[in-house]
Amino acid sequence: MPYVPTPPGVARKMLELAGAGPDDIVYDLGCGDGRILITAVKEFGVKRAVGVEIRRELVQEARKKIAAEGLSDRIEIIHGDMFEVDISEASIVTLFLLTSVNDELAPKLEKELSPGTRVVSHEFQITSWRPSVLATIHDEFTSHNIYLYVIGAHR
Ligand code: SAM
Repeated sequence: MPYVPTPPGVARKMLELAGAGPDDIVYDLGCGDGRILITAVKEFGVKRAVGVEIRRELVQEARKKIAAEGLSDRIEIIHGDMFEVDISEASIVTLFLLTSVNDELAPKLEKELSPGTRVVSHEFQITSWRPSVLATIHDEFTSHNIYLYVIGAHR
């Protein structure tokens, strides 16, 4: 499957919609090159950010970028399967997966996340959940949907 990252403007908008700030811990499930995590720490000042990524070469790329930014103390990349990682400390979870994968993840999100946690998904919805916000943003190539869900208000 080809690797497709979230464009910077979309990442920024996802974090803005989630209200990211200094009290937050952000988890990006399937974090690719770590760009959402880096934006969350650098531009939104979140306390900590954690990415989970299954592809070794992307884990290495993300860790290299994070080190180059001097952010290794604030951003952790876990090499593994996001279904196996405890995400209960997250106050914001970001996703850019597929609707089918989101739907598989939904029970885990509901089980582990506290009320008020924001789940923000680029492009793909969680079919049985109700978004608090659905935003569409346009760049020079295409348009992007962003779904914001708030645990407790998602059904
Ligand atoms: N979140 C990043 C972004 O928005 O730029 C990357 C999104 S990319 C479309 C999806 C990523 O999820 C890929 O890097 C893929 O390897 C990873 N992924 C897919 N299934 C996974 C799993 N079960 N556990 C961890 N990572 C996974």
